[in-house]
Amino acid sequence: MPELPEVETTVQLLRPRVVGRRVKDAEVLWPRSVGALDPDAFRQAVVGARIARLWRRAKYIVFDLERRGRSAGVVLCHLRMTGRLMVEAARHDTGPHTRVRLQLDRGVLSFVDVRKFGRFTFHASPDDVFVKLGVEPLGDGFTKGWMRRELRARRRMLKPLLLDQSFVAGLGNIYVDEALHRTGLHPLRRSDRVPPAAADRLVDEIRATLEEAVEREGSSFDAFYRTPEGQPGSYQHQFRVYGRDGKPCRTCGRVVRKIVVAQRGTHYCTRCQPAPRGRGSAG
Ligand SMILES: [Zn+2]
Repeated sequence: MPELPEVETTVQLLRPRVVGRRVKDAEVLWPRSVGALDPDAFRQAVVGARIARLWRRAKYIVFDLERRGRSAGVVLCHLRMTGRLMVEAARHDTGPHTRVRLQLDRGVLSFVDVRKFGRFTFHASPDDVFVKLGVEPLGDGFTKGWMRRELRARRRMLKPLLLDQSFVAGLGNIYVDEALHRTGLHPLRRSDRVPPAAADRLVDEIRATLEEAVEREGSSFDAFYRTPEGQPGSYQHQFRVYGRDGKPCRTCGRVVRKIVVAQRGTHYCTRCQPAPRGRGSAG
């Protein structure tokens, strides 16, 4: 499932190919992909507009639209489980899972999504969607002071807290497991019992994990995530714990364990990430 690094990679690689382009036509092949708007209304909203800017907020890909130099709403793309964006020089068969296709004045942008949970929706403004999102982990608001305060105030287990998009926006199962291992914090640790120095380290390690993953164009460990150029990412080769249950920890050699936390498979090392007190039996 694409998380921040995969979405950021998609934005960086698409940007030179879509910014400045005009939408000449739009085909909606799976109506639910465009959300509540009916396909004709979606077409009217986007056809004729120019893509002025492409950026990312959390796991959303944001296309800023303009008409005659004035802002004309946004398209928000959320890849969810299996969504992908591709730009081709000319229209060609992107397969049976193509859900939305935009004919641009140069090239064709396709939203392809096997499992159909992804969305490609028009909004007059992104504010209603973004108001629910927490701090951006590669942004200025993600500071050590913020983390210390918030961990104290929230009193929740670290793994579900870090997955909560209204707390930190953009993290998912992979990068939370990786960042907690790098910080030496157990996923079931209560946030208000994390010492200040560990809270500081958590900020550094979340940032470093995400930046390294963006550099390697994200993680591909199944058939789904590919860059807009059709290439897999390579960060999966750097995983310390994610998907490595039963294998030795790369830091200490002890076997990596997998437990279920908040319905999510959670990977950690019992030596590098000691269990919180009273939780000895959990690992
Ligand atoms: Zn270890």
